[in-house]
Amino acid sequence: LQNIDMKIDFDKYKDGLVPAIVQDASTNKVLMLGFMNQEAINKTNKLGKVTFYSRSKQRLWTKGEESGNYLNLVSMLLDCDNDALLVKVNPSGPTCHKGTDTCWQEKNTESFGFISQLEDIIKHRKENGKPEDSYVASLFDKGINKIAQKVGEEAIEVVIEAKDINDNLFLNESADLLFHYLILLQAKGFQLQDVINKLKQRH
Ligand code: AMP
Ligand code: ZN
Ligand code: ZN
Ligand code: ZN
Repeated sequence: LQNIDMKIDFDKYKDGLVPAIVQDASTNKVLMLGFMNQEAINKTNKLGKVTFYSRSKQRLWTKGEESGNYLNLVSMLLDCDNDALLVKVNPSGPTCHKGTDTCWQEKNTESFGFISQLEDIIKHRKENGKPEDSYVASLFDKGINKIAQKVGEEAIEVVIEAKDINDNLFLNESADLLFHYLILLQAKGFQLQDVINKLKQRH
């Protein structure tokens, strides 16, 4: 843990409370926002469980003290001008007292950035796309065997280009393979997350 205690600019806030953004250390989702004073920071470090100063309760509040949904401390970082905390945690359960994973009604699942966006589009094409105006929809229309065959062809093209010195051709075929593989997963009713879960089990 970084020794941040001395540097925090509590004077910036009249009430001596610093905003603390709580983020899941493995999914990177923002879970909630709370406020900490020096005592709350000390207690957080001592317990290894995130403790805020609750403005409504007007006392130290260890998140999870009633529900058991603790925020187990992984690390605490101070921002560029020493007036905001980023607290990375492993949550024991849903963070919001209304029962959702995050206080912004999001699911606390991993996200793979652009790949996840692409998966969403592919899913949408599977459910609503018309084969006449969408290549992806036309693949779903042809069925799993055709899609699997397409993955096989792209894999062979990757193998061929791997032997070549032209990196651009190799990367293009790699993109083709990944794209068609995402379509095959979707056709089978899976997403990349399911494959990653398998890898995690083996790790
Ligand atoms: P807990 O700390 O999870 O045992 O919850 C105790 C009480 O703190 C709840 O009944 C709520 O009033 C409040 N609370 C819990 N979680 C949150 C949250 N994420 N944001 C705001 N208030 C919360
Ligand atoms: Zn700042
Ligand atoms: Zn909430
Ligand atoms: Zn290709």
